[in-house]
Amino acid sequence: MEGLRKSYGSTLALDGVTIEVREGEFVALLGPNGAGKSTLLQLLTGLFAPDEGTIRILSQDIRSHLTGALAQLGVVFQQPTLDLELTVEANLRYHADLHGLPRSQARRRIEELLERFDLIDRRRDRARTLSGGNRRRVELARSLLHEPRLLLMDEATVGLDPASRKDILNRILQMKTGGELGVLWTTHLVDEVEEADRVVVLHRGRVLFQGPPAELRREGEADTISEAFLKLTGARAIAI
Ligand code: ADP
Repeated sequence: MEGLRKSYGSTLALDGVTIEVREGEFVALLGPNGAGKSTLLQLLTGLFAPDEGTIRILSQDIRSHLTGALAQLGVVFQQPTLDLELTVEANLRYHADLHGLPRSQARRRIEELLERFDLIDRRRDRARTLSGGNRRRVELARSLLHEPRLLLMDEATVGLDPASRKDILNRILQMKTGGELGVLWTTHLVDEVEEADRVVVLHRGRVLFQGPPAELRREGEADTISEAFLKLTGARAIAI
């Protein structure tokens, strides 16, 4: 993402934002409410175009190569998006069909992902019967079906109990070890950025900091991310 600007009428939501997510990297985008995180993700998923700036996914410009760029993208939205009346497996199959995966490949990927996310014994259960944490795991498995190279997770732990939050975060952290998948994880929770490779602090549409968590603490002359974030933005970070 390079030089992104986006206004809603007189509100400047993004003011020249440049962020890079490299292969295998876990980047946490930390910002208080109203920072511009959702706007950024809406631009990244091609929902609407920036007023200025460019977005490239594996060197494909999203403006001129939307389909190719989106094929490289996996997304877990903040709002739950499973079809609650379908089984876990049917939700995955439906998504595989949307992405045009050949049946045999879809079957193989679904098996792999059900296994990886400990969902084998829930495969024939309707999504409605699953807990919030398990639903998120299905959404995570679904987002990886088409083997994307960049995974976007939009406040993916909102509404989950602490154990489920930790579980989702740990699974993402494990997944990226040695892999090619880049992850952009948006959050307003400081405790979710401690283990990121890089933290991007977004505030009022501007990037105030970009670097490893330890550097954020150093730069803010702070003992904790929370304190550094407060010094940088004047906004009190939330750490539950
Ligand atoms: P975040 O996701 O970090 O909370 P948003 O991207 O939702 O931030 O919002 C950034 C700014 O843009 C805020 O000032 C918000 O009020 C404004 N905004 C977001 N969406 C709209 C919209 N559809 N119309 C007008 N203003 C909006």
